[in-house]
Amino acid sequence: MTVTWEELGWERLAAGVGRCRLPVWDCTAGLVAGADAVLMIDAGSSPAEGARLHEQAQSLTGHRVTHLALTHPHFDHVFGVAAFPGAEIFGAVGVDAVLTRVRDRQELRADAVRNGLAETVARESADRLVPPRHLVSGEWTLDLGGGRQVLLANVGPGHTAHDLAVLVPGDPEVVFCGDLVEESGEPQAGPDAVPSHWPAALDRLLGLGGEDALYVPGHGAVVDAAFVRAQRDALATRFGVSP
Ligand SMILES: [Zn+2]
Repeated sequence: MTVTWEELGWERLAAGVGRCRLPVWDCTAGLVAGADAVLMIDAGSSPAEGARLHEQAQSLTGHRVTHLALTHPHFDHVFGVAAFPGAEIFGAVGVDAVLTRVRDRQELRADAVRNGLAETVARESADRLVPPRHLVSGEWTLDLGGGRQVLLANVGPGHTAHDLAVLVPGDPEVVFCGDLVEESGEPQAGPDAVPSHWPAALDRLLGLGGEDALYVPGHGAVVDAAFVRAQRDALATRFGVSP
């Protein structure tokens, strides 16, 4: 018996493509199923949440998660990474150092606690971080089998110095944007953001997906190209970047 996306609280975006809005921080996790491989996009905010995602992915696809793409190194997107043993992990070049250096891990843990994650969970999550083995500096095509290919694209910097987007060709095309795009509130620009480059990163996202793609933000409802373009213009104004 197979479950439906809806039964598990997921949103189906295209054949074999869906996303889930996780509790508390409304962080997106994405899933793309191929014939013999399954890609998860982001890992949730703790090993326990990652394990729930992994279980649901298995129920939805009949396979374990074989590939995991991390859109950027923020706790709500990466702290579940320990729940995907054996998966090939991908990230933008440089994200491996952020998930490895003691100082950066401490900062991730402190940021998680500031945002309401329990101290013990934050410590366990930071201790169990796994850096990606595959680092994307330009674009990387992943073949998931059965004619399903996805494109991992290092479109940053912007929201962080290490922003990775995922383009899933199909009808419709789906672009997982990470936190380069937010729908549920103002895009969050922390101390690790690179504001002067953020608008250009959104131009690259729009170049990937074009006019008709579904754009999946890191937080909030799925949006269209017009929304992304408006957010690009608002960020350019906010950060004083000339067009
Ligand atoms: Zn973020």
